[in-house]
This record gives sequence, C-alpha cells and structure tokens, in this order.
Amino acid sequence: MNSTSEFFSSYGRFRASEIKGRYLSRNDLEKQLEELKKEYPVQEIGRSFLNLPIETIQAGNGPVKILAWSQMHGNETTTTKGILDLLNFFLNSKEDPEVKELLQQVTLLIIPMLNPDGADRYTRENVNGVDLNRDALANKEPESKVLRECFEKFAPHFCLNLHDQRTIFGAGEKAHPATLSFLAPSMDSSRTINENRKKAMQVIVSMNTALQEIIPNQVGRFDDSFNLNCSGDYFQAQGVPTILFECGHFQEDYLREKTREFFTFSILTVLRTIASGSYLQENFEAYFLIPENQKNFYDVILRNAVVAGEKVDVAIQYSEKIKAGEVIFVATVATMAPVLSHYGHKEINCKGEVVENIDETPLSENDIVEAILLNKEKLLIK
Ligand SMILES: [Zn+2]
Repeated sequence: MNSTSEFFSSYGRFRASEIKGRYLSRNDLEKQLEELKKEYPVQEIGRSFLNLPIETIQAGNGPVKILAWSQMHGNETTTTKGILDLLNFFLNSKEDPEVKELLQQVTLLIIPMLNPDGADRYTRENVNGVDLNRDALANKEPESKVLRECFEKFAPHFCLNLHDQRTIFGAGEKAHPATLSFLAPSMDSSRTINENRKKAMQVIVSMNTALQEIIPNQVGRFDDSFNLNCSGDYFQAQGVPTILFECGHFQEDYLREKTREFFTFSILTVLRTIASGSYLQENFEAYFLIPENQKNFYDVILRNAVVAGEKVDVAIQYSEKIKAGEVIFVATVATMAPVLSHYGHKEINCKGEVVENIDETPLSENDIVEAILLNKEKLLIK
C-alpha cells in the first residue's frame, strides 16, 4: 500500500469530487450510491421517519466485522465524504496486494447516512427533533431502530461511530485546534477498562501515532463520562469495542475538505491495524497521553479593541445556516471581556483602536458582524 505521503499526494485520484462542502443531502448520496452499487453490495436496511431509505455498503468479506455509521447527526458530513473517498480508494487500489489482503481480512459494513431527514434539513436531530445519539437505550426513533437491528444482525467485532465536532474544540490546553478527536466510550459509570474497551483504546493509540506525523498536536481525546443513551457507550456496554470519531477544524478549512482527507487516512489506519492485529501490541495507557479536548477556541478574536470606551477582547463565533443548498457561515459576537484566555482560529490585533459595527453603533453581544469598523475603516471578518 502507498506510503503516507503517497496517500495524500494521490488523493485527487480517489476523492469523490462531486461531493464537497458542508451540506450533503440524501439526494447527493443517492447519486453516489448509484455508482457504488456497481462495485459494492448496497442494501436498504430500513427507512427514516419521512420514509427515506437507509442503506449499508459492504467493503471486503473477511472474518473481522466492523460496523461504521455516519451522519447520525444530519449536519455532520465530513465522515460521509471521507467514507465515499475510502470506497473509491479501494476501487483504485484493487490490484494492490496489501489492499486485497486487507479486504480479505475485514468486512466493513457502512451506514453512510443514518439520518437522511436531518441531512436534508441540515440539522443535528432527526425530523422529530430527537438527537439519535441520545436515543440508543430508549431506541424509540425509526433511525435508532435501524441501527440497533443492523448491529444485532451483523454482530460486529468493532463499531465506528462517525461525527463532526464544532470549531470551539482544541486538543489540550495549548493553541492547537482539535482536527480529529477520538473516544473509547465508557461501558459503565465507573469507566471500567475491560478487554474490549482496552482494544478500542489500543486502536486509537495506533491511529494517533500515524496521525501525529501529519497533524502533529491536533488530535484530541474526548471526555469519557458515561451515558448509556449514547450509541457508543451503549455498544461498548454490549461488549463490542467502539470508537467515536470527531472531525474538527483544521487551519482555514471551514469546508472540512482537508479534515476529510485526514479522516479517510485515519479510518484506513484503523482498518489496517485491526486487520493485522498490530494494535494488540500497543500500550493502551498511551491513550491517556492524548490531550483532552478543551472548549478553548473561538473562530475569530479581536484583541485589544476599544468598545464603548473600554479595552476588550471580542470573540466572534460562526454559526452555520443553510441557504439554497449551501451552508453559509454567520459571524456573531459571542462575548467580550477585558482579557480572553481562549484562542482564535484567526486573531486580529486592534492595537487599542476603536471597534464598531458597520453602522457606527457600539459592538455588543449577539451582533452579526460580517464586517466591522476598525478605527473607522471597514474590516471584513470572514
Ligand atoms: Zn455528532
């Protein structure tokens, strides 16, 4: 198989390039499935509340069974994009002996879009307003039932729970965005580390080692407080090693096209280490050396601004809105304080100059600020 650098330099050859940006609807997926069906077994396994199909795609036919699901949260699309790229990568590397071997070792069953109603609406929740990642135990929503039934029928050896996280997260205390974060969810409230959870940790350690080569310091570890309503915790508690993936911010990459590549690399690394069993050589305790995710970032910070006569730091956060099938980012003043200890993905030093809204009114929290006046001159925020 390709070296890491070859993997990234050849990415354009297997990128599902029709799919890009943050919005990925059921219709967008459908077009991809039409093509994938020619090469992979694709099976409808159920329907959403609004009666949209939910499918699995199967890659490989080996004895080690891995179940992955993406877009359980409809507005979290990076891992779906990455999964489509991965499937293309396999097709492109058909003749590669290592890829052949890999696909003889594992059966990867992927649900590319568990929440198609939420995907179309670009919402986290399903159309009933339920967060499916809090419905694992109750198992009330149709989409949750589809996942549960698939889990029970397939009886996987590993589960991969695929998500996006917000730009507010950093990996550890320093100024490193959490480009990818992982969790080996707890299986009980005392956070016991049994053999299965240990395996999930070992796989993450193996993956983290590979990722440090390409995104040093930008891998985080999620908090492991136990919540049996979460799918990851629920499946871990059923004795299946489960890994949560959270795709996050990479410098200047709001459309998550770079993170998409890092994710594809990380899931490929997972498959390789599981297929070869090499993860079993890892020290699971190294998992705890991965820096914990912190909420320590805003999208933009205006440092040393003067607002209504006071010297402050101004934090600006983007929110995502869907408009004509595209995600747009709305910049809003999140908070102002004399000194903010957070980091900004972008920081602007205002050097004690006056900052105002574009209509010359003083800045206040919740103002929408596509642009501001800095010392009476217009400055674009985005
Ligand atoms: Zn999520």
